[in-house]
Amino acid sequence: MINLKMYINGEWVDAQSKKTREILNPATGEVIALSAEGDVEDARHAIQIARDAFDSGIWSELPAAERARYLLAIADKLEEQAEEIGRLETLDNGKPLRETAFDVADAAACFRYYAGLATKPDGQTYHVADPVQAMVVREPVGVCGLIVPWNYPLLMGVWKIAPALAAGNTIVFKPSEVTPVTAQKLFEIIEEVGIPKGVANMVLGAGATVGNELAESHLVDKISFTGGTATGRSIMRAAVGNIKKISLELGGKSPNIVFADADFDTAVDYALFGIFANQGQVCSAGSRLLLEDSIHDRFVERLVERAQKIRVGHGDDPATEMGPVVSQAHMEKILHYIELGKAEGARLLCGGNRLTTNGLEKGYFIEPTIFTDTTPSMKIVQEEIFGPVLAIQRFKDEADAVRLANDTVYGLAGGVFTQDGAKAMRVIKKLRAGITWINCYHPTYNEAPWGGYKQSGIGRGLGTFGFEEYTEVKQININLQVQPTGWFEN
Ligand code: NAD
Repeated sequence: MINLKMYINGEWVDAQSKKTREILNPATGEVIALSAEGDVEDARHAIQIARDAFDSGIWSELPAAERARYLLAIADKLEEQAEEIGRLETLDNGKPLRETAFDVADAAACFRYYAGLATKPDGQTYHVADPVQAMVVREPVGVCGLIVPWNYPLLMGVWKIAPALAAGNTIVFKPSEVTPVTAQKLFEIIEEVGIPKGVANMVLGAGATVGNELAESHLVDKISFTGGTATGRSIMRAAVGNIKKISLELGGKSPNIVFADADFDTAVDYALFGIFANQGQVCSAGSRLLLEDSIHDRFVERLVERAQKIRVGHGDDPATEMGPVVSQAHMEKILHYIELGKAEGARLLCGGNRLTTNGLEKGYFIEPTIFTDTTPSMKIVQEEIFGPVLAIQRFKDEADAVRLANDTVYGLAGGVFTQDGAKAMRVIKKLRAGITWINCYHPTYNEAPWGGYKQSGIGRGLGTFGFEEYTEVKQININLQVQPTGWFEN
């Protein structure tokens, strides 16, 4: 049994209440860990520690090259322990080993990217009246509360922790209470590489208590949140008290548009990858497939044939292509949407059931599921299901595709498949979404800004944009001729 504690001021601690929470393996329903169940007082303690550490200058005043060395050391250790961390992530989240191997490698690369960025030139000079020398510098925001979901437990954390630390902030990190296991490994590494006590803290527990305290506390300068749109709204409200800076990476219902002139096999392949990778639990999933009328039937036939061959199984079996979804509650939510889709009159082409045979009896496995003959107002078209459920929409022409693509409250991602380069660019430019792909779907780079339009969020993670989110901007105007203005005569 794994025991998970919080990491506050360089110490591993239980919840002050001594409460714990059972953490389950989604492939078997078995308890794999007992996690400290923090509460508001634990969050307050961690926030105060991070506040004191920031105000002491112990981290922000280090030369950037030194902060970078710590981050590079973390990357090295993540790589050294990649196999074990990947195995733990599979145990906790359910996703197949090949996916967790990728996540850990990407986490290490993210630390390296921000280690590099920490030491690069930034700021500007600007030209105003002589004799003033004027410039802009970037400074850390202060104490950052970082809250992440369960779909990429380690990687979503690293996307925030790496830039926040690189920029000189102190942090209080809260992983999802559903998947806290690999966060412990990351903070063990943070301890091992010797990041000064109090700079990086981790609290464990529920969103409504611990998470909300991070959003509400006046000692926290910035909140960076990844999760559902409804939670994002609640965080915005909680953050209003001290006008906290906020970054929100929220949900999506992203369109993947395939024109008749697309490379057929490539488009089918990415349509599958777009929705069924990570069991469909990807914020940017291509959960709406928009097909041009003339290819609909042929495309659907091939898609269904391939979807039915996806090997669903335990994540730790190397043959597995799709694992369980993360929890019983989440499985029930997805199955509910499938029932809703049928009741709304969409045509179920394949899947639709929980899998309960061949060793999958106790886990939360759902068949790859595809609906077509949908209408734009259906809930399965409008709402984020966050599971292996694809809704197909048909379109007549380019304008129709764009109209349907933008017809949800979300604006996170979108893809276009066509061999006509000009058409691809025309459509992409009309998509109200922050992350887009042409003739592919899903590739994500540490170098590129990640985030959404509309109700998919505020701000950007990753890239230089993601670094800047953890900085304040200061103008400095230096008078080079020190003398009175003479504005007042006496
Ligand atoms: P969630 O919003 O329920 O929880 C996310 C985190 O917020 C958890 O740590 C949770 O404990 C915490 N939380 C919950 N209520 C809170 C509150 N009132 N105050 C503060 N914190 C609170 O989301 P989830 O179910 O864990 O994850 C799925 C969602 O995350 C999906 O909607 C998905 O689209 C989104 N997501 C978005 C991105 C992105 O980059 N845009 C990436 C991954 C996941």
